Amino acid sequence: MKEIQMVDLKSQYAEIKADVDSAMQNVLDHSIFINGPEVKSFQADLENYLGVKHVIPCANGTDALQIALMSLDLQPGDEVITSDFTFAATVEVVGLLRLKHVLVDVDPDTFCISADAIREAITPKTKAIIPVHLFGQCANMDEIMTIAEEHDLYVVEDNAQAIGASYTRATGETIKAGGIGHIGTTSFFPSKNLGCYGDGGALFTNDDELARICRSIVNHGMAKRYYYDRIGVNSRLDSLQAAVLGIKLKKLDSYIAARQQAAEYYNSFFSQISRISTPAVNPQSTHVFHQYTLKIDGIDQFKMQSYLKEQGVPAMIYYPVALHTQEAYGAKDYSDNDFEVTNELCKTVISLPMHTELEIDQLQHICQAVEQYLKNN
Ligand SMILES: *Cc1c(COP(=O)(O)O)cnc(C)c1O
Repeated sequence: MKEIQMVDLKSQYAEIKADVDSAMQNVLDHSIFINGPEVKSFQADLENYLGVKHVIPCANGTDALQIALMSLDLQPGDEVITSDFTFAATVEVVGLLRLKHVLVDVDPDTFCISADAIREAITPKTKAIIPVHLFGQCANMDEIMTIAEEHDLYVVEDNAQAIGASYTRATGETIKAGGIGHIGTTSFFPSKNLGCYGDGGALFTNDDELARICRSIVNHGMAKRYYYDRIGVNSRLDSLQAAVLGIKLKKLDSYIAARQQAAEYYNSFFSQISRISTPAVNPQSTHVFHQYTLKIDGIDQFKMQSYLKEQGVPAMIYYPVALHTQEAYGAKDYSDNDFEVTNELCKTVISLPMHTELEIDQLQHICQAVEQYLKNN
């Protein structure tokens, strides 16, 4: 059996080596490292794939979130509602812009932001909602868009973990994740479902005006060369990364299928173990399994993680500490009682190896190791 990895980028590269090497060599040959033809063609290809009018590439997924919020012309102290159970980047940018983050609890089945909790958190100062499409499936976007319309709020979808997932609205329309709200953002960090070989990110929108503003913000707030309309940042996707992404975007659907196949194997094995809850999927969304995360009754996750490691099975705990308890994110302003679900998830979740190159003997070994641990603990 090949050594099991949480994410196996090396085996994935081996499959596309000829294409990647020649595309990279091409960039070296023309030496237009910034804003080269690869960036423009990847942008167009991604617009096409996602079915959105505008893709604005940038340097990473955290920048994408920050630029999205900067484009909305919010004032210091305006409130932005987001999930308590997410990667810190989602919340970090809110504070950096002197906006006030309002963390709310999540849905116990999908782990995505709870629409009921959003409703309860709305105040006259609320200006935006950032749903996170956590682990690869969409948040309850129909409800979230309804709330946003009722209260005149912006919706910024943090789609760093669910690129390629689709969501079917109550109207019957199917839309790719990130194209439903006013702005979507994503990350091309190497381990993400569409990852480059360094850092990268992008914003998506169907709104021409927001696109114009975001394009100016990524480039120092400059609309015309050396004329600055606003304060911006320097946030670029470089040509080498775009070259890799152009190749991997063509494979994204097959990569997603490989993840879904691995998830099916896990699901069928674990469905027979009563203490395990396998990932529940919102029927309106597809799941692209950025993570395959189990909820297990009565375990010590860290003990289980170290047992699995001894068996050659890497596993991760996403996320072990809720954001509302963090020093940096205003722990003292929150009451633990408002976060029943995240508190529980932080103690019961464990994510198993998930990538595009998992083989049957590896999946079998992982499942048996989990089963064995639960027999004795
Ligand atoms: C990875 C990630 C980000 C940040 O992306 P970077 O490219 O690492 O800056 C933001 N939000 C979520 C939910 C993520 O998983």
